[in-house]
Amino acid sequence: MEVYNTLSDFYGPTGWWPGETPFEIAIGAILTQNTAWTNVEKAIENLKKEDLLNPYKIIQCDRNQLEQAIRPSGYFRQKAERLIIFCKYLIEKYDGKIEKMAHKNISELRNELLNIKGIGPETADDILLYACGHRIFVVDAYTRRIFSRHGILDEKLNYNEIQNYFHTYLPQDVYIYKEYHGLIVWTGKDYCRKIPKCSQCPLNKYPIFNCEKGG
Ligand code: SF4
Repeated sequence: MEVYNTLSDFYGPTGWWPGETPFEIAIGAILTQNTAWTNVEKAIENLKKEDLLNPYKIIQCDRNQLEQAIRPSGYFRQKAERLIIFCKYLIEKYDGKIEKMAHKNISELRNELLNIKGIGPETADDILLYACGHRIFVVDAYTRRIFSRHGILDEKLNYNEIQNYFHTYLPQDVYIYKEYHGLIVWTGKDYCRKIPKCSQCPLNKYPIFNCEKGG
């Protein structure tokens, strides 16, 4: 919580995750795999322009139209397939409504999501936390990097171990979980890059280990 408070004082509320509807958030969670958020924004903008931000339209539209719309997010053929698979699941099980899906028990829903092709733990947890409002902490590459560089977590811990750490030490509060991940994303993007910019970073008041080229 000390790290959270430091980042929160520095940045203020992040309002993470960006998205006007739970469905848009879920689509963004799939599109952001292996790419920067700025590329996802362009892809989502295209989906809106083409009036495709709807599960029924995504499965019914011409495949090439969908691929071209999401092209800025990279791996567009693979991601188009993943969006279609996710939308089919959403339609078949929950009438195309994230709000209906969100009523399901979190552990059952997480298992369902993890069984969908192309959805791993980070994407599943993004959807659970930000689209469904379930209390689950999202671990991303920045989380691993920031907390291992400060010697708080071992870089080699797996996803679940890192997640358990946050679940153990944070208050059980969805708002804090949402904001904390947003703050980590912003810190990673602004400062804790491959070559970190420690001298300007709000977390430089904490001891830094395992960080060779810090500047
Ligand atoms: S940039 Fe430096 S101070 Fe900031 S989080 Fe990364 S290692 Fe820590």
